[in-house]
Amino acid sequence: MEATLPIVDHSVETRLLAGLSKIALILRHQGWTEAGEHGLTPTQSQILSLLWSRRPTALGVSEVAGELALTKPTVSDSVSALVRKELLQKERSTRDARAVDLRLTPRGEDIAAGSAGWPEFLTSAVRSLNPREQAVFLRGLVKMVHSLQQQGYVPVSRMCVNCASFQPFRDPQSEQPHFCEALNTTMADHALRLDCPEFTAASGEQRILTWNTFAAEDFA
Ligand code: SF4
Repeated sequence: MEATLPIVDHSVETRLLAGLSKIALILRHQGWTEAGEHGLTPTQSQILSLLWSRRPTALGVSEVAGELALTKPTVSDSVSALVRKELLQKERSTRDARAVDLRLTPRGEDIAAGSAGWPEFLTSAVRSLNPREQAVFLRGLVKMVHSLQQQGYVPVSRMCVNCASFQPFRDPQSEQPHFCEALNTTMADHALRLDCPEFTAASGEQRILTWNTFAAEDFA
């Protein structure tokens, strides 16, 4: 008689969450290791990376707090430490005379640039998925980030489904069914962006319409 696998847990949801938590563990460990090499905390390192990714635009403390889903006091503490380490400087904002902008010093830029890419072992793990698996995974991630955004756990991110330029499934029969007005190009699911420099925030109403259209269609 054939042996059967014992029935332990579990729903697909539980197994997916278990997998995600393993990846989160690795990312956290990697974050500590990288930050530690420069005598930084992971939060300080995240702030440098965020400012690097948005250059030449400078951000204020509130914007950094919003982008990283941190409290303003937490960001202020880390910013003070980074200023003491001469990795960051504060300057009067050109957008609001009462506000202060945060800008990387040349040394801060060097450190941020050095940790801007993803480590090879993570890139290689993503490459172990075939193109279709990557596209399905990406679409799933977009949906999860959107849900977390709706629940208030992450800020509205610079991803296509939040963007004024995004036209989901403009040509549903095409292999590249979406359209980006800003780049004037059609897009497949695997081209969806989660942090786009050309992003322009859509109005709340447009975001709802875009999302309903995007989520109603099957995987392209
Ligand atoms: S501008 Fe960027 S975020 Fe907006 S639709 Fe185009 S690719 Fe997506």
